[in-house]
Amino acid sequence: MSGIIDFHAHAFPDSLAGQAISALEKEGGIPARLDGRLSSLLDSMDSCGIEKSVVCSIATRPTHFKSILEWSGKIRSGRIIPLPSVHPADPDAVGKIGIIKREGFSGIKMHPYYQDFKMDEARMFPIYEKASSENLLLVMHTGFDFAFERVRKADPERILKITSLFPSLRLILTHLGAWEDWEMVEELVAGKRIYMEISFSLEFMEKRKAAAILLKHPEDLVLFGTDSPWTSQENTLRLFRELALGDRLEKMVLRENALSLLGLADG
Ligand SMILES: [Zn+2]
Repeated sequence: MSGIIDFHAHAFPDSLAGQAISALEKEGGIPARLDGRLSSLLDSMDSCGIEKSVVCSIATRPTHFKSILEWSGKIRSGRIIPLPSVHPADPDAVGKIGIIKREGFSGIKMHPYYQDFKMDEARMFPIYEKASSENLLLVMHTGFDFAFERVRKADPERILKITSLFPSLRLILTHLGAWEDWEMVEELVAGKRIYMEISFSLEFMEKRKAAAILLKHPEDLVLFGTDSPWTSQENTLRLFRELALGDRLEKMVLRENALSLLGLADG
C-alpha cells in the first residue's frame, strides 16, 4: 500500500465521542465533519486514500494522562499512530514523557490554548529537554486558535526562540507554521529547518500565500495534515492538490516525509 499519511487527526473513545464533539463544537463555533469515533475516521481515510493517520490527543488536565495513554495503546495499529499527551501543570510531566517513550509511542501532542501555557515559558523547558533526549516527536499547536481569544502563545517568534534553545527537539509545527499568523510564518519560519504540517490552513487563506510559504520551505520538512474531524480529509486533500506544487513535492508531502519522520520504511 502506498497511501497518504495524515499527520494531524483527532478521535475519541466511542463512549466519549458524542459528548466531546458537541462540547468542542460549542466552544469553537465550528461543526465537526465526523462524529469523533475512530471507526468514522477510518471510513474517511478509506474513502480518500489515506493509509495512516496520526491521532493527536490533548490532556486538558494533568489527570487525563493515564486514560489517554491507555486508549492510545488500544487504538495503535498499522493505520493509526496515536500521540498521547502530558499537561505542563503536571509536576511529573517529565516522568510521564519517559512512560510515553517506554510504551513505544512516536511522540506527544501539546496545545498552548487547551493546556494554558506559552511556548517559551521556562516551565516548558524540562519537557522540551526530555522529549529531545527521548527522541520523541512533539506536535505543537502553533499560531492562534479558532476557539480562543487572540493572545500570542506559540507564534513565529516564540517558535524560533525554542528551536534555537533546543536544536535537537523534534518539533512539528501545525497549521502551516502558525494558524492565521501566516505573514510572520512566511517572513520568519519558512525556509528554516523546522517541520510543519498544513492542517486547518488552506481553508482560511489565499492559495497564492499558501504556495509561497510551501515553496520557500525545505521540501523534506512539509507534512500533510487535516485536523479531521474539524475539516474534511477529502476537502483538505483537494485544496492541497489545487496548489499544484508538482508531482515530486506532492509525493513528499503526502507520504514520504512522514514515513521518514516516523522511521517507517516504504512498502
Ligand atoms: Zn487539531
